[in-house]
Amino acid sequence: MAMTESADLSDARGHEVERLEEAIATWRSTRRGRGRMKMPTLATRSSCEVCGTPMHRTWTDDLTNYRWRAEDGSITGVAGDIPDGAPTSTSQLLELLADRGDMEAYSTVLARYQLGDTLLPWEHHHRAVEPASQIDPEDVPTCHGWPMRAAPGAWICRVDHAITPARTF
Ligand SMILES: [Zn+2]
Ligand SMILES: [Zn+2]
Repeated sequence: MAMTESADLSDARGHEVERLEEAIATWRSTRRGRGRMKMPTLATRSSCEVCGTPMHRTWTDDLTNYRWRAEDGSITGVAGDIPDGAPTSTSQLLELLADRGDMEAYSTVLARYQLGDTLLPWEHHHRAVEPASQIDPEDVPTCHGWPMRAAPGAWICRVDHAITPARTF
């Protein structure tokens, strides 16, 4: 009998602890992010500022960061037209320049290549034009004294990177 009583008692304490933990979690979540937590409107489409290739914003799994990717999957692009038969790699380009005896261009290309730049002179890494923010500054909640960062469907604290879901209403 005594054993049952003590089991009941620890069970009741367990429930009490659970209730307290829930209350603390609720309190924490209401303290996070002062503001209205409106759903952020984020531009997810843009284009490369050099060649105009359409690009879209892709987010890391933890939503803390994003990068722009070309919709066609390419990483590099060319601006303007390249003549037919233009070299398709730096080694081909170097060969061509050596054949022509253009040693000034040769040494420039070689120096860039040795610095780890594998792009051909007419190529570039796509870089998206960052679209102007569509979020009214008044709608940006603050946390730890800083405006929070907008992510798809959520706001992220710039200090501890905690994610708070945005309100859907
Ligand atoms: Zn581009
Ligand atoms: Zn915070």
